[in-house]
Amino acid sequence: GTGIVLNKELQRLAEESFPLCAKNLFKAVKHEHHLRHEGRRQLQLYLKGIGLPLEEALVFFKTEFTKKPGCNNEKFEKDYAYGVRHSYGKEGKRVDYTPHSCMKCIAANPSKGEYHGCPFKTFSEEALGAALSQMKIEPSKVTDIVKKAKNKHYQLACSDVFEAVHGGEFIEGGLHHPNQYYEQSRKVLN
Ligand code: SF4
Repeated sequence: GTGIVLNKELQRLAEESFPLCAKNLFKAVKHEHHLRHEGRRQLQLYLKGIGLPLEEALVFFKTEFTKKPGCNNEKFEKDYAYGVRHSYGKEGKRVDYTPHSCMKCIAANPSKGEYHGCPFKTFSEEALGAALSQMKIEPSKVTDIVKKAKNKHYQLACSDVFEAVHGGEFIEGGLHHPNQYYEQSRKVLN
């Protein structure tokens, strides 16, 4: 059904155009079929920001979350659907919440078992190096980028990743938002 098409399309977009923060959350939800509160929030707002309609976001999260033993459709509706609708401004105060900026992600302090925040800050050097190598970035470049991240230049490190995976194209005006990374990526790739 539409769930499968949507899933494949999101997977492709995640590989091609998501910044590492969103890739990390996307990967976690695919593998663990769960995300804790802050992770759900960051990913839901990001997906809203890339233009995923509410109905499709509900299908996506429900499809993944109900793969986890102990979570059926009923539990999803009871515990998680509200949060998705809330992120889309359809519950509570009905505020159209803005997706997290880089600064907001960088300010987060995820605990073990949480995947929100900015990976350039939260990953170990080894984990960051491995994630960048998986994106087929050449080893010397990976070393440079890991060094920038270690020196707390997270957004510059992330911009270097963008350049490396978009044939040298760079982010106009400097990187300040994960959704800006996505939009510029689609512009380059489309
Ligand atoms: Fe995401 Fe910004 Fe961190 Fe890049 S620098 S991973 S876009 S929060």
